[in-house]
Amino acid sequence: MYIKDIFSKRKPVISFEIFPPRKASSIDTIYRTIDALAPLNPDYISVTYGAGGNTADNKTVEIASIIKNKYNIEALAHLTCITSTKSEIDNILEKFKKNNINNILALRGDIPQDSNFKFPNPLHFEHAVDLVKYIQKSNNFCIGGTCYPERHIECDSMEEDLINLKDKVNSGTNFLISQLFFDNNFFYNFKSKTDKLNINIPIEAGIMPVINKKQIERIVSLCGSNIPEKFIKIIDRYENNPEALKDAGIAYATEQIIDLLSSGVEGIHIYTMNNPEVAKRIVRNISSIVYALNRNIAI
Ligand code: FAD
Repeated sequence: MYIKDIFSKRKPVISFEIFPPRKASSIDTIYRTIDALAPLNPDYISVTYGAGGNTADNKTVEIASIIKNKYNIEALAHLTCITSTKSEIDNILEKFKKNNINNILALRGDIPQDSNFKFPNPLHFEHAVDLVKYIQKSNNFCIGGTCYPERHIECDSMEEDLINLKDKVNSGTNFLISQLFFDNNFFYNFKSKTDKLNINIPIEAGIMPVINKKQIERIVSLCGSNIPEKFIKIIDRYENNPEALKDAGIAYATEQIIDLLSSGVEGIHIYTMNNPEVAKRIVRNISSIVYALNRNIAI
C-alpha cells in the first residue's frame, strides 16, 4: 500500500525507523528488532540507507523486503542519491519493485567528507528534488521527503530552505518526515510557514527518545537541533545512570508526542535507534490517546 493512502485513511499515522546493523555479520539482530516492533502495529517501518553511497553491502532492500513480505507491515525504504549514478539508482529501483517495496524516502544524503571520495562527474543527482523527479517518472512509487523545522544545517536561511522544500513537494513528494526536534514550538512555527506556502501534504513529526548522552551529542552536532534548557538539565543529571536517563528520555519523548497529537499532528515518526523496548514503552504511554484519535494500536 502507498503510505499516502494510509494518511488518507487514518490519522495520526504512527511509524518507526530502524537502521541496518553496521556489521553485516550482525544482521540477525535486526530481525529480532523487527520481531519486537511488529506487535506494536505501526503503520509502517522505515529502513535507513547507508551513508556515503556504499550500496554494495547495503541491506536496506533485504530488510525492507522482510518487513513487507514476511511481517505484512508497510515498508519505507530510504534512498540517498548524491554519490550515485542514474544506472545505480535504476538498479536499486528495480530491486525495490521486485521485492514489492512501493514507498521510498528520497534523500540527497550527507556529503562524504573524505577528500578522496569519487563522486560521479558531473553529478547525476545534486539534491533530493532531482531524485524525486527521477523516481516520479517511473510512476511506480509513493515518495516521501525530509523537512527541517529548525532549517537544514547547510542552508543559510529558513526562507531559502522552505523555497527548496516547496520545489521538492511540487516535484512529486507525497508526504514529509521531519528532522528530530526537542522543542515542539519549532515544529509549530514551521508548520504555520508550510501552511502559508500551501504545502498541503502530510508532515510527520520525527521524535527521538534520548537514552544516552553521547548519542544525542553526536546527532545534534550533525543536525543542529536545539536542546531546551529543561532537557539539558535532565541529560546532565542522569548521564551516569542509564536506567534513570532511559526513564527520563522516554517520559520527555512521550510528553512531546502527546502535545503534538493534541495539536493535530498528522503523524509521529519514532527514531527507534533499533531499541524496541523504548518504542514499546512509548507506544504504551500513548495508546489510549491514539485510540481516542480514532486509531487502535496494540501494546
Ligand atoms: P535536500 O532536500 O536535497 O536538501 C539539502 C540541502 O540542499 C538543504 O539545505 C536544502 O535547502 C538545499 N537544497 C535543496 N534543493 C536545492 C536546490 N534545488 N538548489 C539549492 N539548494 C537546494 N541520510 C542517509 O545517509 N541515509 C538515510 O537513510 C537518511 N535518512 C534520513 C531520514 C530523515 C527523516 C532525515 C530528516 C534525514 C535523513 N538522512 C539520511 C540525512 C540526510 O541525508 C541529510 O540531512 C542530508 O544532509 C540532506 O538530505 P535531504 O534529502 O534532506 O536533502
